[in-house]
Amino acid sequence: MGASGGGAVTPHPDLTSLRCIRCGAHQPVGDHPQGCPSCARNGTPANLACAYRSPGGPGVRLPYEGGPSLGEGGTPMLRAGTRGGVDLWLKWEGANPTGSHKDRFSALAVARALHAGYERLAAASSGNAGVSLAAYCARAGLGCEIAVTDDTPGRVVDLMRELGADVVSFPEAGQRWRHLAGHVGSRTVLPVTNVPVPPVGSSPFGIEGYKTLAAEIRADLGDRLPDWVVVPASRGDLAWGLHLGFHEIRGSLRGPRLCLVEPFPRVSAVLGGADPHAHFPGATTVMPSLAGNTVALQAVEAVRRSAGRAEVVADDAVTAGTRRLWRSGLPLEPSSAAAVVAVDQARQAGAMAPGALVVAVATAHGLKGM
Ligand SMILES: [Zn+2]
Repeated sequence: MGASGGGAVTPHPDLTSLRCIRCGAHQPVGDHPQGCPSCARNGTPANLACAYRSPGGPGVRLPYEGGPSLGEGGTPMLRAGTRGGVDLWLKWEGANPTGSHKDRFSALAVARALHAGYERLAAASSGNAGVSLAAYCARAGLGCEIAVTDDTPGRVVDLMRELGADVVSFPEAGQRWRHLAGHVGSRTVLPVTNVPVPPVGSSPFGIEGYKTLAAEIRADLGDRLPDWVVVPASRGDLAWGLHLGFHEIRGSLRGPRLCLVEPFPRVSAVLGGADPHAHFPGATTVMPSLAGNTVALQAVEAVRRSAGRAEVVADDAVTAGTRRLWRSGLPLEPSSAAAVVAVDQARQAGAMAPGALVVAVATAHGLKGM
């Protein structure tokens, strides 16, 4: 993908269909903001994932080529030192063009919209996703609508508007999803973040963009896979995209296990036997990117299929951890610093053994919210 505004967008020649991550049923390549239609009817919503003719070559396949690019990806892998015997590295996604991993998603979500002939994209966002999507829509000459909550920082809303997006604000997070549901079936507006409740997650085409992160992690470590990749999560788009990427590039290598980081028990509750469609009480004031009281199947599957785990990190520990990182020259937003705090907790709990090679995904720059 060149650093362009997007010319002729072409689907990958191996892209055949979309496959439900729960029931395995295939759908034609298309847009299904409610996820798998039959699982939605059964009250067990699940996301779809791109299916390709197998086997592929080395490296990851992306569903579209020729979409807009701002030079996303290729982010630095920073050595964070040895912590209690754990060899910790930070994949610095704040170095992406709009300061977060979401740029990998936006490039593919916008490519899909261009190919399918939409005029406008819509998303619910607490910040990073909205700023990113606004930039990529502007680059591609498409309209953009971002649904935020009334407590979204003014600076972030201003960024979205300066990038040409229309911003609509709601008192509660769930109202954003109902608003997006109003676009389902539109021929002109494509919602690319989660729509249904219980949630399924975001556009499967956008999620494919995260597979490049898995490939980079392997290359950055000298063609090795780490023992653990630690990922901040809400509905688990990034964790699921990493799972898809590692599945595609693993070859004869083993791992990595995925550790999802959350501000209160959601995925960890489901792994412990809770009903995945339950409402999970809890709140965070410092990690808005990781908020939400529901669980998407893709987040749980990313953990289960990698024999991973979920780690709950508290607001006060994350505030202290963020301060330590900034003092060491790493301006991570708290939702990203949460990954490093989770490594310390997991190590102290004996879940990450001495000698383990661990990559924490530092998802976003901390300057945006200032
Ligand atoms: Zn299904």
